[in-house]
Amino acid sequence: MHKWTIGCRIFWLSVLCLVSLSATAQDYPPAWDKPFPAHRVVANLYSVGTYDLSSFLLTSDDGHILINTGMAGSTALIRDNIEALGFRLTDVKRLLTNQAHFDHVSAMAEIKELSGAQLWATAPDAKLLQDGGFSDPLFGGSETFRPVSVEHIISDGDVIALGETRLTVHEHPGHTAGSTSYSLRVHENGRDYRVLIANMGSINPGTKFHEDETYPGIRDDYAKTFKSQKALDVDIWVAAHASQYGLHDKYKPGQPYDADTFVDPEGFFALVAKLEQRFLTALDEEKQAAQIESEQKH
Ligand SMILES: [Zn+2]
Repeated sequence: MHKWTIGCRIFWLSVLCLVSLSATAQDYPPAWDKPFPAHRVVANLYSVGTYDLSSFLLTSDDGHILINTGMAGSTALIRDNIEALGFRLTDVKRLLTNQAHFDHVSAMAEIKELSGAQLWATAPDAKLLQDGGFSDPLFGGSETFRPVSVEHIISDGDVIALGETRLTVHEHPGHTAGSTSYSLRVHENGRDYRVLIANMGSINPGTKFHEDETYPGIRDDYAKTFKSQKALDVDIWVAAHASQYGLHDKYKPGQPYDADTFVDPEGFFALVAKLEQRFLTALDEEKQAAQIESEQKH
């Protein structure tokens, strides 16, 4: 991909990070629940989320998997998007999430009731899902979304099978302790595509890595996630926020389906490198601040 496009995308990502600084479950960017038309990403993977908060539907003859649900008011948008593609919310059998923050799971409880699907999550994210984000080290202390029960714990390397779909679980902790990406292979156009539904290692304001760390082991978690992501084989990638994977640069409503629309390994690895750099800078800055503080005490 053209360097300018990557630079531009990263610029907008920085803007978005500033926006999310003040975002709460009541006060958040309008793009989070602005409607956006459902569309096919590749093969049996569809995007059914809002303008910026991704929800992904993986369809099969034996039922569907839905990943992420957006804000509390987004249930109807997601259901309408699923129906616009000719599928039904009641055929969703598994619910998953990239990360248990309110912007990705607030409609989960309602969608679970309407679909009757099972919610599967990693152990750390299951805790947040079941207490409505109360125990979240950054945003917790009160519920930030409606609590929802988890039926099954998933962990790194697990394969979630439904119909023909085989979805591999990648634990990518740091952003939340249970953040998760999912990968699958699809066959289209006479070739295989390696597809990643990624949770990127972005850092929320207020995160601490040294003294008073946000949660025990967070520094190692981020480091592990960047290492894992750099080693992945990726042709097509999408992520929890549309802005992260450049949805609106790559796809305009009504654009005809093309299996290559979301092929962008360079964009993925450029963003992983950018976020890793941001992590290393945050570590340095925190260390320097601690040093200055201790010097002032002496
Ligand atoms: Zn988050």
